[in-house]
Amino acid sequence: MSINSMVENLRKNKDLPDADLKTLIESAGCEAEVETALFLNADEVRKDYYGIDVYIRGLIEFTNYCGNDCYYCGIRAGNGKAQRYRLSTEEILACCKEGYELGFRTFVLQGGEDEAFSDGIICDIVSQIKALYPDCAVTLSLGEKSYDSYKAYFDAGANRYLLRHETANAEHYRRLHPADMSLEKRKQCLFDIKEIGYEVGTGFMVGSPYQTTEHIIEDLRFLQKLQPDMIGIGPFISHQSTQFHDFENGALHLCLRLLAILRLMFPYALIPATTALGTIAGNGRELGLKAGANVVMPNLSPIKFRKQYDLYDGKICTGDKAAKCRVCIEGRVAAAGYKIVVDIGGVKREGGRPAGK
Ligand code: SAH
Repeated sequence: MSINSMVENLRKNKDLPDADLKTLIESAGCEAEVETALFLNADEVRKDYYGIDVYIRGLIEFTNYCGNDCYYCGIRAGNGKAQRYRLSTEEILACCKEGYELGFRTFVLQGGEDEAFSDGIICDIVSQIKALYPDCAVTLSLGEKSYDSYKAYFDAGANRYLLRHETANAEHYRRLHPADMSLEKRKQCLFDIKEIGYEVGTGFMVGSPYQTTEHIIEDLRFLQKLQPDMIGIGPFISHQSTQFHDFENGALHLCLRLLAILRLMFPYALIPATTALGTIAGNGRELGLKAGANVVMPNLSPIKFRKQYDLYDGKICTGDKAAKCRVCIEGRVAAAGYKIVVDIGGVKREGGRPAGK
């Protein structure tokens, strides 16, 4: 089958047999042909659902203490060199205030798995944000919790939860995480989050150590089961103080092809052009948008702590004030041909326009 008909089938059926997915993902010897077809179709589909709108999410990295020891991550528990910090409730609310004034209508609270933030404290933070900014969505990204904890945060007003599955292959998962973590547990968390009623975001790293094309296809199959609202992917980037310091970073073009494949398989999805993508290439996020992404997540964390949320080496946007980041991202989005909107930016499951319109 020709590359063009594979891409057309993917668009029409939102699915392809494994062998065809493998051809598109690897695109061995036909990268230009595959990418031309993928990016063109992905951009048309994203415009059907979302026009040229790009949603912004204000990222507040509120703690880098973490009880987990994910081998790839710079803030893992075992990294004794990491300088740890936590934001107070007042500092978090100050980030939201600044963000609201800059036009953010979603706040993403992300952190390590930090027991100092009890469920009571998280619920208090969430309800204070929702009381002050009832027109905003609160997204949490705090890792693996019990059903009851997820439920408590939801009842306190949290709307969305981000938890990447990282890899859907159990053996690969074990090579990236210590023995006390499991893929089963992570999947259970995701299904709990969904059942409770959150908009759910998941995703995986591209080019993580030992990842194969077959693993990536398993990731796509898992996403088909979960049907998440948001799908975040970004390149693995090595961190000097982890056991993976000598591994190569994920490849830009593999990420871009996967973004386009995700857009065609999940046309409704919220798909960010991630900071990691912008880290491996100066125009990575712009290219991501052109390949089908429709969300960007600028940083609202206080400048003095930005460098310490050190997931991987070379992370961008650690020095500029939120207002400057906002202007910078606006320019980048416009240069790519899209437009940032001041909007809560919910998922559009049925956004497709009729053919020909
Ligand atoms: N504790 C939260 C937040 C983790 S950080 C949680 O468990 O969900 C957010 C994401 O950063 C992770 O899900 C992971 O996919 C990504 N990340 C961590 N280390 C990385 C690295 N070295 N390169 C690229 N992405 C990384």
